[in-house]
Amino acid sequence: MAIKIGRWDCSQCGFKGNLGPEKSCEKCGAPRPQNVKFYLADDSEIVKNTSKIQEAKSGADWVCSFCSGHNKAIDNICKTCGNDRDVLDGDKSLEEKIHLYNQKQEKKKPKKKRTKKKRTKKKRTKKKRTQVKLGKGTKKVLIGLVSFFILFAILAQFSSDIEVTATGFKWERSIEIEENTKIIKDGWEIPKDGKEIESYKAIHHHKQLEDGTETRTRTIQKQVGTEKVKIGEKDLGNGYFEDIYEEKPVYEDIEETYTATKYKKIPVYKTKYKYSVFEWKDAGTLNAKDNKKPAYWPGKDKLADKNKFRVKNKEAKYFLIVKGDDETYTEEIKFELWEEIKMGDVLIAEKSSIFGTFYGLKLNN
Ligand SMILES: [Zn+2]
Ligand SMILES: [Zn+2]
Repeated sequence: MAIKIGRWDCSQCGFKGNLGPEKSCEKCGAPRPQNVKFYLADDSEIVKNTSKIQEAKSGADWVCSFCSGHNKAIDNICKTCGNDRDVLDGDKSLEEKIHLYNQKQEKKKPKKKRTKKKRTKKKRTKKKRTQVKLGKGTKKVLIGLVSFFILFAILAQFSSDIEVTATGFKWERSIEIEENTKIIKDGWEIPKDGKEIESYKAIHHHKQLEDGTETRTRTIQKQVGTEKVKIGEKDLGNGYFEDIYEEKPVYEDIEETYTATKYKKIPVYKTKYKYSVFEWKDAGTLNAKDNKKPAYWPGKDKLADKNKFRVKNKEAKYFLIVKGDDETYTEEIKFELWEEIKMGDVLIAEKSSIFGTFYGLKLNN
């Protein structure tokens, strides 16, 4: 139970580190303030003198209600003015306070929060700065670009109709196909459409069987006693501090032997089958394209054998080639229209009046 001498700071002259039990400032002589705050310095010495230890343990100092002077707990008369100690009349003891280390840590946390707040403030100002930078240089360029695109969009809406003549047809068709393929598999059961090739015995799983016992060792933690651990300090209210201890269990690693059951793995056999089964597997893509009508689907011969091949996916594109204003345009259109339009048909197309861009056929009319 170590007793240490605390410190206090003078509020009159600012001198730091007056010895706890001293009643007046070492530098300016001002009396110890009424609401003095004692603290432990890092180099606080441990008190060994028995009379001082007794003084420390005698209780908190008291403040005279008449002259505000500080007196020791054992004094019944104020040392400064000679007034009788009268607790009922308002003499106050300086408080005994307990400081536990984990409480101290909790007190430190708000400080961290403060620094975080400062950081976010800094970030905000940085953001503002970058916004200002954008505004100065790029804003004009951005406004310029946006108005250019708006103007472009308005001008592009001015269009005129032209006559075009159908001069050619293009098409592309592709089919992803699947083939019904014979596959050899192994399994514990034959599926409905599978055909057995052979059967054999194979390990299905393992069983654990008890196989006697053996002695093993393991490490366990065993309490071998207790130790006193310092968990905080008590401000004795008279310039001294006392360490606060707690009894905590002490553990040691101990090797112990125990009897364990041994197991052995025994394989369990079952009948397994090798069988054949038919499954639809990807068999590639067939393509066809041409520059004339009619369009046809590729792979007619293969797909005729419906038991062996089938269609997984179909895709097609149809293009119409037209001529007008001494230019040739190719446009993708729907199959029904592509079929309907004949070579030499005259159609109406839309063209930008200002930029001359070909906008496409007017097919709704
Ligand atoms: Zn002072
Ligand atoms: Zn007094």
